[in-house]
Amino acid sequence: MAETIETRIAAFLNALSDSDAAALYDKVMTSVRTELKPSSSLPDDFEHYSNIEADGPTGADLMDVITCHLVTGGRGITDEKYPRFQLNFNLQKATGEYATPSKVIEGVKPVPWEIKDVLSAEGWESLKSSFLPSKDVEKKPSKVTIKILLHHIAYNDRRRRTGMEPIPAGTGSGTSISHLCDKEKCCNQLHHVRADQHQVNLDRQRCPGMTVLVLDGVIMQVMNCPHFETSETNLVTSPNCTRLTVIELDPTIFSAFNASAYETAHEKYVENKRIRRALPGRLSL
Ligand SMILES: [Zn+2]
Ligand SMILES: [Zn+2]
Repeated sequence: MAETIETRIAAFLNALSDSDAAALYDKVMTSVRTELKPSSSLPDDFEHYSNIEADGPTGADLMDVITCHLVTGGRGITDEKYPRFQLNFNLQKATGEYATPSKVIEGVKPVPWEIKDVLSAEGWESLKSSFLPSKDVEKKPSKVTIKILLHHIAYNDRRRRTGMEPIPAGTGSGTSISHLCDKEKCCNQLHHVRADQHQVNLDRQRCPGMTVLVLDGVIMQVMNCPHFETSETNLVTSPNCTRLTVIELDPTIFSAFNASAYETAHEKYVENKRIRRALPGRLSL
């Protein structure tokens, strides 16, 4: 297989040390602008929904899980379907070395040099040797642009994942880093997962996500999406698609089936209403 730029980028990211991978993510996140938006439309006031079980997820918990960080721009961020972090190097005729373009915004270092500041010496050398032509190449391009998919940088930060699979070397063979929320511009790293089969990726796009059964603003049950899987040791091997389908239960029908659950839910509902009436403005229950 011919080596593509995507293959080289994947190899570069996978080879970074854990601390360099984390530093790169943190650095990129300081230059990106995002808008927080849930990936499903939800009933009004959903964040105040409580759960019937003491340790069950509340509306606020579920909103947190499904909230996307949608990229709206930022320094070095391209406005593509899948935004990328772009590094530009210009050839300096006098020295034959590459440096960052001379246009400098006051008080702000050019992006590649900011990256140099946060990477280890090894990480920086690896970046240069992965993408810039070596010194002895005669005809060097006058400009080298590296564009790295933002969600690959996010996925590659290993602090929030254990036993992580590396970024796949080539796209098109079915493997990819997929968005659990199906929002292409989402850079919430918890919404990125490796997909090894294209079909799984497509299925996730059509998935309604987690199903939430609700009675009068009280969450009775949360069901995983069909893609959720755990291993024997109870580790999550395939997370939920980060969308919600909220189903409102009919109180008259539900109370006929399960009187005691209805009573508990109703008590919670009354209590929630009382608290919300007593306090002004928005609050978290
Ligand atoms: Zn998302
Ligand atoms: Zn799913």
